[in-house]
Amino acid sequence: NKQILLAKRPSGTPSKDTFQFVTTDIKQPEKGEVLIRTLYVSVDPYMRGRMIDAPSYVAPFQLNEVIEGGAIGEVIESQSDQFTEGDIVIGGFGWQTYYTAKEKEIRKLDKDIAPISTHLGILGMTGLTAYFGLLEIGKPKEGETVVISGAAGAVGSVVGQIARIKGARVVGIAGSDEKLQYLKEELQFDEAINYKKASNLKDDLANACPNGVDVYFDNVGGEISDAVHELLNKFARIPVCGAISSYNLEAEDIGPRVQTTLIKKSALMQGFTVGDFANLFPSGTAELAKWLNEGKLKYQETIKEGFENIPDAFLDLFKGNNIGKLLVKVADI
Ligand code: NDP
Repeated sequence: NKQILLAKRPSGTPSKDTFQFVTTDIKQPEKGEVLIRTLYVSVDPYMRGRMIDAPSYVAPFQLNEVIEGGAIGEVIESQSDQFTEGDIVIGGFGWQTYYTAKEKEIRKLDKDIAPISTHLGILGMTGLTAYFGLLEIGKPKEGETVVISGAAGAVGSVVGQIARIKGARVVGIAGSDEKLQYLKEELQFDEAINYKKASNLKDDLANACPNGVDVYFDNVGGEISDAVHELLNKFARIPVCGAISSYNLEAEDIGPRVQTTLIKKSALMQGFTVGDFANLFPSGTAELAKWLNEGKLKYQETIKEGFENIPDAFLDLFKGNNIGKLLVKVADI
């Protein structure tokens, strides 16, 4: 069994020596357990937060322990009445090629709705984050302008499409021309801005949002968000989903204060984690799957191949090397 452990807690951007590869024995399943062969592993920006030893909404990773995270695998041996060999399951077993799971740690997936990898993306954690963050906090109305940072990523690309389904005008901010083309041509965003090329992001945004900004779905924080905040309309809503621009900073991220803007605009800024909506997941997944089957939602995945490439794939998130959900394929079914 190959595993990737947290070898040391990173300061700044993680590097290869943050991780250690080891090989261990496979634990044979006992009663109520199954042996899983990992097929897909998810790499997600929030995992950076778990690499440091600080209180958060999920516990930190432990040093010299396997990096946990969303993964999909095939049951290859079952000592459980609930699972049989060949079942495809999802769980948090993370960066290892095999895992012996207790029944309550995994959930069986329906292989027929869509490719199984979508359960780590558009039909899974990132799709649900987009769905609930936008609809429960952003609450876009027809004709309003919705701006999304990190727009071509796993969460952002779904947010923009849902906002369009709700009749909003959608403007995405992303970091490459290839991403802009994807947003405008494939996903039908109304406008897209490359923040890495913008000489004045606020001016570019003002041009793209002639009626101001009603909803700002924030995935990145930092200077991009400072620019968007200047364009908020009265009663704007800001679901604060992520702040990836600050995750690898070694010093505190100090920026313009936003309070007076929020007051002047009677705006709502609300942080959230997808887990806040856990009791609504079944209905959220059902609606996402319905839109997917109706062709109203599209998705793209960036899939790296090979267990040994998991750390590199994780680091790619911070380089912007992905369109849509970034996954690592560890084995074929
Ligand atoms: P993405 O698929 O969007 O991948 C990360 C993207 O972030 C990169 O492709 C890159 O795109 C962009 N990025 C990286 N560094 C920077 C930077 N310094 N400044 C601006 N953009 C940057 O990841 P996810 O969709 O999975 O996650 C998006 C955000 O949502 C993250 O902040 C994540 O932590 C958060 N999140 C929050 C959840 C919650 O429950 N609140 C749940 C899931 C995700 P580009 O080329 O545009 O720079």
